[in-house]
Amino acid sequence: MAVSRDLIVVGGGLVGGAIAWGARQTGASAVLLDEGDIAFRAARGNFGLVWVQSKGAGMPPYAHWTRESARLWPHLAETLQAETGAPLGLHQPGGFAFCLSEQEFEERATLIRRMHNESGDIGTRMLDRAEVRAMVDGLGDEVVGASYCPVDGHASPLFLLRALHQGLDYRPNHRVERIDAAPNSFRVQCGSETFHAPRIVIAAGLGSRDLAPMVGLDMPVSPLQGQIIVTERMKPLLGYPTHTLRQTDEGSVMMGDSQEDVGFDLTTRVSVLKTIAERNARVFPALKDSNIVRMWAALRVMSPDGFPIYEESERFPGAFSATCHSGVTLAGAHALALAPAIMAGTLPESLAAFSTSRFRTEAAA
Ligand SMILES: Cc1cc2nc3c(=O)[nH]c(=O)nc-3n(C[C@H](O)[C@H](O)[C@H](O)COP(=O)(O)OP(=O)(O)OC[C@H]3O[C@@H](n4cnc5c(N)ncnc54)[C@H](O)[C@@H]3O)c2cc1C
Repeated sequence: MAVSRDLIVVGGGLVGGAIAWGARQTGASAVLLDEGDIAFRAARGNFGLVWVQSKGAGMPPYAHWTRESARLWPHLAETLQAETGAPLGLHQPGGFAFCLSEQEFEERATLIRRMHNESGDIGTRMLDRAEVRAMVDGLGDEVVGASYCPVDGHASPLFLLRALHQGLDYRPNHRVERIDAAPNSFRVQCGSETFHAPRIVIAAGLGSRDLAPMVGLDMPVSPLQGQIIVTERMKPLLGYPTHTLRQTDEGSVMMGDSQEDVGFDLTTRVSVLKTIAERNARVFPALKDSNIVRMWAALRVMSPDGFPIYEESERFPGAFSATCHSGVTLAGAHALALAPAIMAGTLPESLAAFSTSRFRTEAAA
């Protein structure tokens, strides 16, 4: 069976889902091809932060892109909620990164100053022990202060993913192994089905590395493992997200932020989980009495410098790459800024910094 669309998106995670949904908003027809449950799928194992304060140190275009995404998120959430009837659990009350020693406080202050100098002031500030306690109850004695950014937030990543898929031509169990490319003409074979489109986006997370060369692109991504702990539902503990802890609308407390370079390995390790649990219990001693009900490991999709990759193929115009390690945070920008640009046929100048030419320049230097 042959299927013709305006756009083929390969990879039905948060990046591909947001782009396909955003393309549909422009009036285009899109098909979203996804490998399915056996693939590595960061979109189903992440933490759910819409996080701005520390994103883009050393790369101002990424800081600005992240800020733009946080600004677009409420519109994305309202539109998806109106379409699907299901709330996404978006809250943007600002977020904290708590410091447990003077050294951590100084290091955080240096980072926040750097972000401010490089990319402008968005109101992020360092709060001392008394200031942070005036905003947050239940903190442990070891918390010496925090950075607070008023535009940070969080959302349910699974509700987001489901809402993006709903109403799309989403095809799970469609692993793409081969793409036949010509300028502005792409053909993908999945079993007995053939998909044609003048545009294609490679957004297959860790699968992108193999697919991108088929359309003249380079996506040198690799895995970085993160582990997450989830507690039973608790009474309201924290009205704000933090970079290592957030409470969902349902009451579960999620803890995380480990970063382990262990290849394609989804094994959880007690030593890592213990570090996560201990640190968060020092911040909120009430967590010591909570029951843990779940934990898992998932793989981040990392480029060599950790920043996103967006590029159009020179050899095969109409083919685009899209990957990042903050697919929740950047969903607003992917859906409402990147997708329209792709459908218009050109990436804006503001995204030029995300091309892979930056790796070639670094290698040549
Ligand atoms: C532990 C952890 C915590 C995180 N926390 C946050 C957070 O708080 N905030 C935030 O913004 N981000 C967070 N992230 C990152 C976020 O989850 C990812 O940026 C996002 O999921 C990446 O989306 P993706 O679509 O690129 O990749 P994925 O979600 O991995 O999706 C890729 C998709 O491509 C499909 N695929 C692969 N190969 C093929 C193929 N050959 N053919 C067809 N389909 C294919 C797979 O089936 C998969 O569904 C976290 C990630 C992890 C691991």
